[in-house]
Amino acid sequence: MIGPIGLLAVAAGMLFVRQGPAQAFVVTISILVGTVLLWVLVSVFSAAKADKTCPRCGSEGLQQLDPDTTRGVTCAACGFADETVSSFYLAEETGSLEHTVLLERRRKRTGVI
Ligand SMILES: [Zn+2]
Repeated sequence: MIGPIGLLAVAAGMLFVRQGPAQAFVVTISILVGTVLLWVLVSVFSAAKADKTCPRCGSEGLQQLDPDTTRGVTCAACGFADETVSSFYLAEETGSLEHTVLLERRRKRTGVI
């Protein structure tokens, strides 16, 4: 959405410079503001969900590799593991996200890994 919104803002600026505050400028700014508000509403009411599909076996068995970090996933069905994939949304769904973030913050402060 950043690209179209930026393009619309440039178009509004060009209309303002060439024609002054004419009707086309007002319409363009209204579309721009309406698009941004619509995007905010869509983002608020359709939160992201974790994709639990395993890339190896296709089952819905992905879970956090380590509950103390938001990195790494493993499949309960086939044992697939990937330490580089983010498990942020999985932690959010299980309700352990706050605990995990606080633990990682404490590790950064103390330097203990
Ligand atoms: Zn699997």
